[in-house]
Amino acid sequence: MFLGLAVSCSKDSGEDGTIPVSIDKTANLKTTGDSANEILSNNTFDKLLIEIAYVAGFRPTSNAMTDFVSFLKQHSFKQDIEVVYKELPSPNEEKLTLDEIFDLEKENRTIYNDGSTLAIYIYFADASSEDDKEEEELVTLGAVYLNTSMVIYEETIRTLASKSTLVSVGDVETATLNHEFGHLLGLVDLGSIPVNNHEDVDAENHCNVEGCLMRAELQFGAGMKKMLENRASKGIADAPGLGPECILDLQANGGR
Ligand SMILES: [Zn+2]
Ligand SMILES: [Zn+2]
Repeated sequence: MFLGLAVSCSKDSGEDGTIPVSIDKTANLKTTGDSANEILSNNTFDKLLIEIAYVAGFRPTSNAMTDFVSFLKQHSFKQDIEVVYKELPSPNEEKLTLDEIFDLEKENRTIYNDGSTLAIYIYFADASSEDDKEEEELVTLGAVYLNTSMVIYEETIRTLASKSTLVSVGDVETATLNHEFGHLLGLVDLGSIPVNNHEDVDAENHCNVEGCLMRAELQFGAGMKKMLENRASKGIADAPGLGPECILDLQANGGR
């Protein structure tokens, strides 16, 4: 998905003087989906440590974080999951590119793989994606850019939720967190090989199964709002879950 950035990592990694040389970051600088099996199974790592780095005032709701951890426990064998929070000052940018988000990670991430602990870094931004086209309602809610790194555009999520009486901030956060993490779990064909072909022909690395969490429309504002409002109007308040094909893929790659 963001291979261009992943390729440029090797060029950037030598320039960072803020992390002590004793920390080996290479295991956390791979391409999205490369660690799917390591996250899903307990073969190499049996603990998941998640660093939530959020801009002051943009911390995710505790409801969403509880649901997110349940999602991870449901689909992976990791049952030892710890979440740590780190408050950060605003970078004072209205929009951020993935390169800028990766630069912020290099400055701010404190947790890397260590022993049998696999580390994940999630940045909650007070900015929107550089690629957004608000006039076309094409706003991005989250993105993945490395094997253990993702960004949630919290400001965009709050704006979206404020426009609907049926959709809460927590619902959008949960669906976005779970969707983006699905990519770290290798969905669809991003490290977890599909058992049956169910990749959307029009949207790479997304699922064509109706109602699935990995549908492409869930990473954009309008599609997310529509799906959540649909569910709310039917009395299903929760964020959508993975469909059967995506679950099969995870099971085939060490998940459950
Ligand atoms: Zn996606
Ligand atoms: Zn699916």
